[in-house]
Amino acid sequence: FNTEKFGQHILTNPLVAQGIVDKAELKPTDVVLEVGPGTGNLTVKILPVCKRVVACEMDPRMAAEVQKRVLGTPQQKKLEIILGDFVKADLPYFDVCISNTPYQISSPLVFKLLSHRPVIRSAVLMFQREFALRLCAAPGSKLWCRLSANVQMYARVEHVMKVGKGNFRPPPQVESSVVRIRPHDPPPPVKFEEYDGLNRVVFSRMHKTLRACFKAKGVKEMVDKNYRTWCAVNERLIEDDFDAWKLIDEILAETLVPAKTLDEDEQRPAFADSRAAALSGNDLLELLRAFNVRGVHFA
Ligand code: SAM
Repeated sequence: FNTEKFGQHILTNPLVAQGIVDKAELKPTDVVLEVGPGTGNLTVKILPVCKRVVACEMDPRMAAEVQKRVLGTPQQKKLEIILGDFVKADLPYFDVCISNTPYQISSPLVFKLLSHRPVIRSAVLMFQREFALRLCAAPGSKLWCRLSANVQMYARVEHVMKVGKGNFRPPPQVESSVVRIRPHDPPPPVKFEEYDGLNRVVFSRMHKTLRACFKAKGVKEMVDKNYRTWCAVNERLIEDDFDAWKLIDEILAETLVPAKTLDEDEQRPAFADSRAAALSGNDLLELLRAFNVRGVHFA
């Protein structure tokens, strides 16, 4: 097998495979999407405890292998294969996703699952350790980043198990971890592109003040362009002396970071002087609202 091209590190420890399937808490009525079944080490543990498995596999030899493995068993008719690239595939209905896929597609995998409708119940996914820890990172912690903020707006994320290199063949270069993602249902009424657009700016320099982040090259132009579109759509006149930076600066200075406690004497800093590293998802949402009501958009 061309392990390089498809990132094929087969999970050989049956206890780990069983652990992953257990964490998915499958019901007999569930349709499960498996991404990259490979030779089917996870697939054969999923099939008996659910209604159906739809497995998306890019490598035709692997797809043949997993089909051969269930041939002539009661599980055969419960398995459907989509041959092709998961990132580009049109996904059918499913309740839960389970995957041990190559780490190159980690980000697209997470965001494709989060944007899937109807909202899925959960996803149990194997990732490179560092990526997994970033997904779960708490606001204010060392690994808190744009990825953590984006994902945690739409889902609860838990680290469920560490998996060492020795559990794969061939062993990968990095340590792995399994995470469980449970999307919020209903999803929060926040457009992903908007929220991510804001996070792109504020996390560009995590430890600088937001005022400094917004001064970065290109931000003013982006806000200016979006503001003009917003004015056109809402039939509003643009002031002759409109200056996007002045508007941004005003909003950052006037909007206070929401209180963390009910203590009325608490000093609340303005967003202008805060740093992304210290802001929570809720704070970021508040800032996005403040921008949006003034016609500032990030997508
Ligand atoms: N799930 C199996 C296991 O745990 O033993 C195989 C794991 S192996 C790391 C990843 C599998 O994903 C390979 O079979 C590979 O061919 C497949 N794959 C890689 N990229 C893919 C993609 N973009 N879409 C679908 N499958 C992919």
